[in-house]
Order: sequence, then C-alpha cells, then structure tokens
Amino acid sequence: MSEDPNRVPPNFITSLIDADLQSGKHQSIITRFPPEPNGYLHIGHAKSICLNFGLALDYDGRYHLRYDDTNPLKEETEYVDSIRADIEWLGFACEHVYFASDYFETMYEYAVQLIKKNKAYVDDQPLEVIREQRGSISEHGTDSPGRQRSVEQNLELFARMRAGEFPDGSHILRARIDMSSPNMLMRDPILYRIRHAHHHRTADAWCIYPMYDFAHCIEDSLEHITHSICTLEFENNRELYDWLLDELEVDSHPQQIEFARLSIEHTVMSKRKLLQLVQEGHVSGWDDPRMPTIAGMRRRGITPEAIRQFTAMIGVAKANSTVEISQLEFCVRDDLNQRAPRVMAVLDPLKVTITNYPEGKTEWLTGSYWPHDVPQEGERELPFTRELYIEREDFMENPPKKFFRLAPGREVRLRYGYYITCQEVVRDDQGRIIELLCTHDPESRGGSTPDERKVRGTIHWVSATESVPATVRLYDRLFAHPRPGQDPDVDFLTQLNPESLVTVTARLEPSLKDAKPGDRVQFERQGYFFADPQDHKDGELVFNRIVALKDSWAKLEAKPAAPDTSEVAAPKEKTPQAPTRARSEERDRVRAEDADLFARHERYGAQIDEDSADILSGSTEIADFYDAALTAHDGAQSVANWVVNEVMREIKDRTLADLKPTPQHIGQLVKLIDTQVISSRTAKDVFELMLKQGSAPEAIVEQKGLRQLTDDGAIQKIVDEVLEGNSEQVEQYRAGKTQLLGFFVGQVMKASRGKADPQRSRELLLERL
Ligand code: ATP
Ligand code: MG
Repeated sequence: MSEDPNRVPPNFITSLIDADLQSGKHQSIITRFPPEPNGYLHIGHAKSICLNFGLALDYDGRYHLRYDDTNPLKEETEYVDSIRADIEWLGFACEHVYFASDYFETMYEYAVQLIKKNKAYVDDQPLEVIREQRGSISEHGTDSPGRQRSVEQNLELFARMRAGEFPDGSHILRARIDMSSPNMLMRDPILYRIRHAHHHRTADAWCIYPMYDFAHCIEDSLEHITHSICTLEFENNRELYDWLLDELEVDSHPQQIEFARLSIEHTVMSKRKLLQLVQEGHVSGWDDPRMPTIAGMRRRGITPEAIRQFTAMIGVAKANSTVEISQLEFCVRDDLNQRAPRVMAVLDPLKVTITNYPEGKTEWLTGSYWPHDVPQEGERELPFTRELYIEREDFMENPPKKFFRLAPGREVRLRYGYYITCQEVVRDDQGRIIELLCTHDPESRGGSTPDERKVRGTIHWVSATESVPATVRLYDRLFAHPRPGQDPDVDFLTQLNPESLVTVTARLEPSLKDAKPGDRVQFERQGYFFADPQDHKDGELVFNRIVALKDSWAKLEAKPAAPDTSEVAAPKEKTPQAPTRARSEERDRVRAEDADLFARHERYGAQIDEDSADILSGSTEIADFYDAALTAHDGAQSVANWVVNEVMREIKDRTLADLKPTPQHIGQLVKLIDTQVISSRTAKDVFELMLKQGSAPEAIVEQKGLRQLTDDGAIQKIVDEVLEGNSEQVEQYRAGKTQLLGFFVGQVMKASRGKADPQRSRELLLERL
C-alpha cells in the first residue's frame, strides 16, 4: 500500500479549509498540536498529529507544536522531551515549538482587560458553594455575591492573588457570563485559580494559573492558528472559546473544529490509566511493547510509516467510534511485508532425527529472503543436518482431516529442504513426545521430486546443531476485554490479558546470528519480529513479536453471521465457479511454494468454509484483496462469499487491478448488507454502480436513496398496492394455494426496488391475507 500523495485523505475538515482558502478568509493555514506534558503520547495523539501536521504540509501551511503546560502539578520535563522525540520519530520535524507558559504574562493582561470591561470577577466563596450555585441542566444557577464587586475591587483582589497573598482554593477569577445559560460551561466559568506550586519552566514566578478554556483560545489566537482542531468532548467549550475571543482585544479569532477521538479495541487511551499501568508495574514502562504509546509501538518494532498509514486509513469522522485493533495490525503487516526478509525460526522446538541422513554431514541449501511478490532480492544459506527442530504444533499424532502437516506415516516438505516422512514417535517417561524419527527422500532436495510427487504441507525447520538460541517475546493484546475501562463498575485492571507476554526460547536459523538491534524480520509462518533495540546483543539474541501473521483472536470473536435477508422469491444464484478439483490442486501447488499463502490458507480455514479459504488463498493478489476487504468489515464469511462470488465473477477475464471498487469498498458493501442497511438484492445493484463509477457504496446508497425500508407505514402501502394489483392470486391464496406467499413477497420487493425489508414484508402480507 503506497502512501497517499495527500497525507490527509479528503474529509469534512479539508472541505472546510478548501472553502476558507477559496473565499479568501485565509491565504494559508496554520494548525497546532497542543499536548499537555503530563504523560507519553499514544496512538490517539498520533492521529491528531498526523491530522494537524499533515494538513499543514498538504496545504503548504505551517504547524506548531505547543506544550499546553498550564497545570504545574502533573507536568514534567521527561514528558516534554519524550513528546518531541515521538513526534519527530513519527516523521514530523518540529520547527515551531511553543510553550503556553511563555504566554503567562500576556494571559494575565488579558484577564485584567476582562475585569476592566466588567466581564470577570473574583469569587472568594468555598469551591463547594460555587459548585452548588452552578445549578443543573434543569435548574438555573445562582449569582455569586462576587458578581456585585466593583471593577476596582476585582482588579485589586486579582493583583493580590497574583502576589501570593491568598492560599490555594481561597479565590478564583470567573468570567461574568450567564448563570442561567443552558450550556453549563457558560455559567461564569473559572478562568484563574491559585496554585502555590513549582512549574517545570516558570519555576516559582507564578502562583496563579489559567484554566484550560481561558488559556487555550488565547494561545491559538496569539499564534494566529487558523483552524484549531480538537476532539469532540470540547464541542460545548466552543461557545466559551468564541465568547472569550470576542470579548478580548485580539488580532485573530481561530475557528475551533471538533473531530472524533480515536479509540481502539483491547486497549485504553486515557493518560491517567496508562500512568497507572506504568506506576503499578503492570507493564515494564511507558515503552513497554504492549502499550499503545508511540514509545511502546516503536519498541515493539512498528514503523512510523505503518502508524501514518493507519491514521490515514481510519479517516476523520464527526462521530466517535471504536476501531478494531485488526485494522492497525493490517497496516503493520502490510508495511512489514515489504521490508522484512523472510527467515526460519522454531518457537516451540520438537526434535526430528532423519534416520537415513548421514551423521555429521552438513549440507548448505539456498533459500530466498523474499517471496515472489516483494520486489527485493537476496538469499541465504541454510544448513541441513541429521538432527533438526520443527514446530511442535506442526506434528499431530491423530490429525483431523484438514491437518496437512506432519503425522505418523505422512510426508511433508521441509521448506527449501527435503520431503520427510514420519516413521516413529519417541516419548519420555511421562509419555510426552520428545522426538520424531523420520526418513527423507534424497531425490527431493530443494523441495521437489523428479516424479513431481505432491505433498500437501510445507513446514519450517532449523538444524538442531547449527541453529542459534534466542529469547523471543511473544506480545499479544494488553487487554483481553475488547473495551477495557468502559464499564464504570468494573476495574479495568481485571480486564488485562494475562497472556499478553509469553517469553520462549526459540531456535533461529544461523543467518540471524548477525542480526543487529532494530532489525526486522519475518519468521516464516509465525509473524514479524524485531531485534529489541536495547536488550538484543551479539551472542544474546532477543526478538519482540511485532505482530503475528494470523489473527488468533478473529476466531474467538467471530460473530454469528447475520441472518440471510435475501428475498424469498428471487431465485438463488449459485456460485458461478465452484472450485474444480484441478484448480484446487493447482492452488495447493502454489501454496506449497509460498509459505505466506500457505499460512493464509490455514488462517482462512479457521474462519470460513474450506472452498472459499482455498480460492482466496490461491494467489497473493486475491488474498491481499480479501484481507483488505476484511479491514472494512469483520464478517469473514460474508466478505468471503462476496469476494468469491461477485468479485471473482467480475475478474474472470480481467485482473483485480482493473477493478474499480477497492477491497475496502467491497468490505463496506458487505457491512451494509450485514447490518441490514440494504438488502442483498439492492447490494447487487449498488455493486453494478460501483463497477461503473468506482464510488464508495455508502455514497451510492445515500445518493440513490437505497436504504432498506424498515418503516411499517411505507411497506404497508406497497403491500396493499401489490395485493390490489394481483386480486386473482389473492383469491387463489385464500382458496388454499399458500405457496403464493413467496410470489407476493417477490412482488413487494420488486415494487420497492429491493428496498423493503423482506422479513417485515412477509409479516405484513400474512396479516392482510
Ligand atoms: P488529558 O487531557 O486527559 O490529559 P489528552 O489525551 O486529551 O488527555 P492532551 O495532551 O490534552 O491529552 O492531548 C493533546 C491533543 O491530542 C489534544 O488536541 C487532543 O484532542 C488530542 N487527542 C488526545 N487523545 C486523542 C485521541 N484518542 N484521538 C484523537 N486525538 C486525541
Ligand atoms: Mg486534553
């Protein structure tokens, strides 16, 4: 997947900017990212950075990094430094760096300005009283006696607050707005409070500090920010933002724009919770590879390109939603596919002795570092010896039908090696299998035989005597629960995944002896791994799993397929090209030579029917298409059906590259069916249009008004019309020919151009009949 020439794909904010530039409201844009230095940046911040800084770059504007350091209690220079390092690592140079604390004097002057206009006053009531006086959504607030103070009294009290004459919490400065405003934030909000605390930059110069709402709009205005982009929870603050800038004598009044904040399944994004994980030792630190922090993702081995790709893919929306972690994992795999050489490693070694291979002999076999579809070259030598290791899970004593790997009496191919057949199983005293005795076919060197004998499985291996040990950290999702911390009655710590880190001693092919800290490789059939930048040393290899090749969670979470709402009367279409045996064998052959496709076949097989799994893993092109479609919708079986039936029919005499709909569009289309927004018949019409126009399915559905009719009134009307227009059939039905129900449903579907909900139509027809 190549990076978009535009860093930020078109969205409602780009439309706004386009309009502002066109109308001449702005000549160029300035955006900012305003972190509070009270923690490490996480993937949610990355989204905000890629959006703000990406927009500035796309529009040839300018972007600011501004530390919003107005709260002395929680801020530290450690965070200031880490934030900048993380942003630069993400790929954005920081040329314009600002600190809110540099504006403290100016902010103070603005506060004085407000007091002089009688738009702010000092309140010295206890905070609980002030809170009570605010009222509630249904009750007006009560005026504070402070509202009656004269401008002079307020100026004097505010100066004394600054001079340090009062203790914390005894006085505040409030805006004088409206104690009965429906927007609670407008009920004389607090602008300044007293905090006798040491600030990481201004030291002890101040003991009063501005509140977020007062400070933020001033910071934006002073820096001439044009578009002040923030997350949705600030929607109500916009009124105050605008009120303050209207009242103050400022040169510039930026526009605040809200977008949906990013949440991802199986993780938490709250800085408070992340801090708790670090402080209580649930993780090894802010850069623990399981953390959603940028530092953690970097330590895990994820690249900045993958993160940028992810933020572009999920887009910018106006409504909050939770993104599936598999979408991030997809981007990570997609990025690493192009950059990680393939090597072999056995994570859970089971010894294999090749009884007909000479003792002491070492043969050097050649293996490519890259699969066919990655345009890179290079190969390495692999030692083959009498004693080998294979993955314990690649052997089964009593295998089920679809297990194509090693079993007693079965023959498999060792990748780049020989065909071997398992002859005998060796056990220890406890009955545990400790070794397999196998024979090899000397004619099969390199992976094929002169008689082109077929084997169904290809497995990876290493030499027992030449391989090197390594510590391998198998990282998994930090939380087992998909939405940790969302239920206020459940402690989010109880939702941690106890198996989020499993450490094993693996055996690696000897070429990895020279791996350097920071190297990324794919252990074939396992996943992508990263030589830990801190712990990996010569002779003491340590690898982190970045991401597994297959998503082991997909099966656990697979939701039951949505009920089939396809219309009753329409004839069911059959799979146009049921996979013939010959074709399937051809695909087996392809998979035998391509470990990646082989792994995908197994992964698909666990989620969808075998025929579809077979077809979809028949070529990298098709498999990539299917995987990409899945990122838009998690219904594996229904997406598979669509790709196998509809998409494959279209590409019969073309290639996928010629197809207008993107895989994501196909996924979105299937999602519309599964969520019953459209019927499967309508979906076919939408698909026709997608083929012609290449537009997104939602856009077509909206444009053409194709949403399924679920409204009873509308369906009822069509039902009545259908019954009226077919009185003959109605009579026959009432005389006992009840099979005609299907005919009526079909007519309703036809009259509604496929938009009526078939289930509901059926019910309404039955009522009338
Ligand atoms: P808190 O304010 O609770 O400490 P925060 O995550 O909002 O946490 P900030 O440092 O204020 O931390 O965030 C800086 C910027 O990043 C803000 O503009 C904020 O809107 C944005 N941001 C924070 N979290 C997300 C998220 N999950 N998705 C998108 N943007 C985010
Ligand atoms: Mg914040």
